[in-house]
Amino acid sequence: MSTKEKLTIYWCRRDFRLLDNPALYYAIEDSNKNNTKLLPIFILDPKLLEEDRWNIGYPRRRYLAQILADFALQFKKFEILVGNPVDVFHKLTQEYKVKVYVNSDIEPYSRKRDAEVSQFLDKNNGKIISFADQLSVDKDTVSGTGTRYGVFSPFRKKVWDEFIQAPVVPKVDTAKCEYLEGTKNPYYEGGGSGVAKIKFDSGLSVEDLANKIFTIIDTNWNLRVTDDFKINLDEVLGRPKITNIWYSNEKEALSRFRDFNDNKILNYKSHRDNLGADAVDQGQTSRISVALKWGLVSTRTLKEIVIGKHDPKKSNDVFHFISELIWREFYRYELFHLPHLLNTEYQAKYQNTIQWKRGSEAQDWFIKWIQGKTGYRVVDAAMHQIANEGWMHNRSRMIVASILTKNLGIDWRWGQEYFRSILLDLDEASNNGGWQWAASVGADPKPIRIFNPYTQAEKYDNKGLYQAKHLPADYNIQEPLIEHKKAREEALQRYKYAKENSVRDY
Ligand SMILES: Cc1cc2nc3c(=O)[nH]c(=O)nc-3n(C[C@H](O)[C@H](O)[C@H](O)COP(=O)(O)OP(=O)(O)OC[C@H]3O[C@@H](n4cnc5c(N)ncnc54)[C@H](O)[C@@H]3O)c2cc1C
Repeated sequence: MSTKEKLTIYWCRRDFRLLDNPALYYAIEDSNKNNTKLLPIFILDPKLLEEDRWNIGYPRRRYLAQILADFALQFKKFEILVGNPVDVFHKLTQEYKVKVYVNSDIEPYSRKRDAEVSQFLDKNNGKIISFADQLSVDKDTVSGTGTRYGVFSPFRKKVWDEFIQAPVVPKVDTAKCEYLEGTKNPYYEGGGSGVAKIKFDSGLSVEDLANKIFTIIDTNWNLRVTDDFKINLDEVLGRPKITNIWYSNEKEALSRFRDFNDNKILNYKSHRDNLGADAVDQGQTSRISVALKWGLVSTRTLKEIVIGKHDPKKSNDVFHFISELIWREFYRYELFHLPHLLNTEYQAKYQNTIQWKRGSEAQDWFIKWIQGKTGYRVVDAAMHQIANEGWMHNRSRMIVASILTKNLGIDWRWGQEYFRSILLDLDEASNNGGWQWAASVGADPKPIRIFNPYTQAEKYDNKGLYQAKHLPADYNIQEPLIEHKKAREEALQRYKYAKENSVRDY
């Protein structure tokens, strides 16, 4: 019989919150009921820090350091471990019999990681207990005829009631449990191979701990676009200042969202695309995506706040806002079932058939797009917004993605890769869905959309406020990389060729 002490572990990943956190709630309940000690942990996987692909990028490292420090200090004991997750659990199970509570995710990397850890624990006297969190509706939702949904509107209709009724788990009290007192066999501090530990004591301030974490995870900021095209973003961009940190913990995120719910949501539909308003008024959208990415709040809590004050059946704006939250669900549902979408077009007719621009001109144009030097003013303003803030307005995301793929003829995967590296709110499912939508290769069966950057600017930034805010003072590019009319014709040809050369008949 094992004589190892039993230990309940809450493994935090992207759920930095106390309200509606099922894994944390049930870990605390389990620890109290079974009289076991609780150990909350966060694991920094070096794979995400060192490799050029899937790298969490400089802005997110800075932000992660901040929210992790803030969250960790809310517990009497919290361990930040640096290592491959299986190695971390290998160490822990040498000393303890562990039960690990997690909120599960739908992203391919997370699913693979959890499967590996689960397999390891099964063989080593441990157990992983997971809760659906990142997808609030049933991942196995099918239509009346038993088929999986591939189009948003019918999916929304089907899951609407389920989403509105999705329950919220009560807030936990982190003081109400016994914590592990110090580890008998402490991990060594610092790098090298194996598992390292970021040590901190309760006297540390959030800022001090954030700086300590950041120093450890701060490395070169590279972007591997393809196997033979790598960009050093530290050189190409410099380090973003990230001036707009709207919130860095649950309390601040909730407060910001309540303000949106009280003062802006009733104009959401009519104002959400207005880049000018965004520039002068700190935005007519909620800007809650960063909180959702890191789980400072859950979508279920947002939905409760909204319906606690407004009736989506009576307000088109509120209905529209809830629908956007369901878009997020939809993209997660799709990616869960079709993980290959991260690299492959949803529509079969466009798989390997579009002749994207390659070679040095494409690479040069791509870097100019990143730097905000395409010569299309609204595009360049948006690219400066993302470079400086790690965030971009939704309308701008649609415009810059359309220009990259249609006007510049560059593969949507390149754009997806850059966004993956820089966005504070990076969400693989929404990012992929957005890129596939903009490249007209995704689930939505609409005809090829080619945004005209000039009419987009007139329509959504008619006073030029957004451009004035984000373009640098010395911006002086007069000619676009390619004239819009010519680009449009080339794009139409590119898609026509792809369709004609598809192996299947459409
Ligand atoms: C090319 C491209 C890439 C994108 N990458 C991401 C990404 O990595 N992470 C991300 O969260 N969103 C992404 N989006 C979707 C959208 O741009 C952002 O969710 C939105 O701009 C966030 O701002 P907000 O919180 O103020 O949104 P609001 O308009 O206030 O909407 C509230 C929430 O609804 C969800 N939502 C809104 N619009 C969309 C949408 N089109 N698709 C999916 N969910 C939506 C988001 O969770 C958002 O936070 C991308 C869109 C495009 C076109």
